[in-house]
Amino acid sequence: MHLASNASENKITPRSVAIVGAGQAGLLLGCALLDKGYSVTMVTNRSAEDVWHGKVMSSQFIFDPALQIERDFGMNQWEAECMKTEGISFSIPMPDGSGNRAIHWHARLNAYGQSVDQRVKMPGWMKEFERRGGELRFDDVGVAELDQLAAEYELVLLAGGKGEIVKLLGTDESRSPVKQPMRQLALTYVTGMKRHDYYECVNFNLIPGVGEYFVFPALTTKGADGTQDCDIMVFEGVPGGPMDCWGEAKTPEQHLEISLNILKTFVPWEYERSRDCQLTDANGILAGRITPTVRNPVLTLPSGRKVFGMGDAVLVNDPITGQGSNNATKGAKHYYDAILARGAAAFDEAWMRQTFDALYNGYAEKVVRWTNSLLFPPPEHIVKLLGAAQQAPSLASRIANGFNDPRDYAEYWFDAADAENLIASEMQKLAA
Ligand SMILES: Cc1cc2nc3c(=O)[nH]c(=O)nc-3n(C[C@H](O)[C@H](O)[C@H](O)COP(=O)(O)OP(=O)(O)OC[C@H]3O[C@@H](n4cnc5c(N)ncnc54)[C@H](O)[C@@H]3O)c2cc1C
Repeated sequence: MHLASNASENKITPRSVAIVGAGQAGLLLGCALLDKGYSVTMVTNRSAEDVWHGKVMSSQFIFDPALQIERDFGMNQWEAECMKTEGISFSIPMPDGSGNRAIHWHARLNAYGQSVDQRVKMPGWMKEFERRGGELRFDDVGVAELDQLAAEYELVLLAGGKGEIVKLLGTDESRSPVKQPMRQLALTYVTGMKRHDYYECVNFNLIPGVGEYFVFPALTTKGADGTQDCDIMVFEGVPGGPMDCWGEAKTPEQHLEISLNILKTFVPWEYERSRDCQLTDANGILAGRITPTVRNPVLTLPSGRKVFGMGDAVLVNDPITGQGSNNATKGAKHYYDAILARGAAAFDEAWMRQTFDALYNGYAEKVVRWTNSLLFPPPEHIVKLLGAAQQAPSLASRIANGFNDPRDYAEYWFDAADAENLIASEMQKLAA
């Protein structure tokens, strides 16, 4: 048990932590701290039932390094059951509208990734949180409730995801160069997709001027308490373009119809394996927009007490690179290490800022930069790089495995000369 002495009463008590928001970030950290003897209270605004029976929220694909954190924290309850995605495939259609591909390659990830529907995972993790001795409360937390928590607990973490409350943290404008949503997003959860004739992939399709479409296997809900395999279609439409059309969908059936029409028009090879798909359930759809935002990590309440932001509350990215849950997971581990290393010392503002800055400067900044770069038309060197990967499997492998740890892209993604050097060295290897 992690203990701190309370000098005035001369007794030993576990350190107390409150977490607002039972999502990927909050539940992971909460469960891990309970295992170390911390006293943890979680306050969230949706019950397990609400989440299970509600709309899908994400495509939540998690790559191996983040999966490993879940394993290390004993939080991989669905790993055996969930389909394993072993690679990345990448396609760009021919510009002539022929329906053929100008670029197509696939490469294995060093280790598989997985997507477990948050409607399955969060209810399961809430149960796990209580099993480990955590106190789970349901409330829609506002400023007054935050202040009450901050008065009672040694540390209050705000892990409210995209909830209104997180806006109180305020945007860090210098770290948030993209000022408006750059994609119209949609999700369609389906069953009945034909498998392709190579290993399971995150199949990424870049359609210049239109947007991106990616699709991969996942585990989702079935009825009141079961699970089933599915595939998740993710649409990233350029605003005002032909993929920005979800307003026309008045029913789930129309949402599916629009999804299939997009595939038929722009990525017919994906349509071919999707044409017989059915929705997993009426809630297996979503449409929306996100402004990529880095927020200030510390909220000062009117009382002067401090609250520490984590997960999407402080770092929200466009899902185009599938990094949000991965960041939330890596961030939870980073905060966990910092909380343990703090021992019995106060969780003061300086510690909060240092903890977040170490995460941002050491990791997240590079993920944000790479993710934001994909929201703009690709420069010529990126098109060349992606084309060269078709000839050079080791280059394809390098690009694919960057999704595990996007810091690697800083070596060659942003600068034309770096990209040329990498292409040249990979081609030399190929010729040798
Ligand atoms: C369309 C889409 C696709 C995505 N695909 C991927 C992907 O493939 N891979 C990936 O890594 N990431 C993906 N993401 C991002 C990922 O879903 C998020 O980054 C991740 O869920 C963030 O976790 P979190 O714990 O910070 O927030 P959340 O998981 O959103 O949890 C926040 C919690 O806080 C609660 N809450 C909110 N406000 C309050 C309040 N006032 N009081 C109490 N509780 C509150 C909510 O109910 C929720 O339980 C995607 C996102 C979207 C929108």
